[in-house]
Amino acid sequence: PKLQDVDLRSFIPQIIDMVAKKASVNGIDIIQDISLATPPVHGDPGHIQQVLLNLFNNAMDAIAEKHGSSGGRLYVESGPKDNKYTEIIVKDNGCGISPENLKKIFSPFFTTKPVGKGTGLGLSVCHGIIDNMGGVMQADSEPGKGTIFSINLPVSRK
Ligand code: ADP
Ligand code: MG
Repeated sequence: PKLQDVDLRSFIPQIIDMVAKKASVNGIDIIQDISLATPPVHGDPGHIQQVLLNLFNNAMDAIAEKHGSSGGRLYVESGPKDNKYTEIIVKDNGCGISPENLKKIFSPFFTTKPVGKGTGLGLSVCHGIIDNMGGVMQADSEPGKGTIFSINLPVSRK
């Protein structure tokens, strides 16, 4: 892995750009609130990109299930948290997750998608990546309303 300090203030918008076309085609507004005070984190940018792309793609699937191709909203926020952490929030107004399924989403091979559409590996890999960076990844959801993922990563100290 290529460990380095990553400035999320520019990196998160670059990753959002990668899904902007797909979002707009599917009638999804992406609302960004990347605080200027978002502290840098230390890690492999490729890994961070993989985590965010997974979350964005899951959110877009959940939005398509609830809304079809209009009325979707995807929020991406970041900022400092408790002096020691950088927090990234990814929130959608998609189909949501039942309390029963919410307990299983980070388990490898758990998927509610049709065969061939989902491997169920995305979130377990994401969770492992964040764990390896010394961070914490959590999910909360209201079925029928939407889902929120939060990632807390230790701030890079030089
Ligand atoms: P996959 O996308 O291949 O199914 P993931 O590990 O990425 O595997 O996600 C596991 C499951 O968690 C999904 O099948 C879905 O049921 C649920 N899920 C993940 N993200 C969301 C989301 N944003 N909204 C609703 N359900 C979600
Ligand atoms: Mg997935």
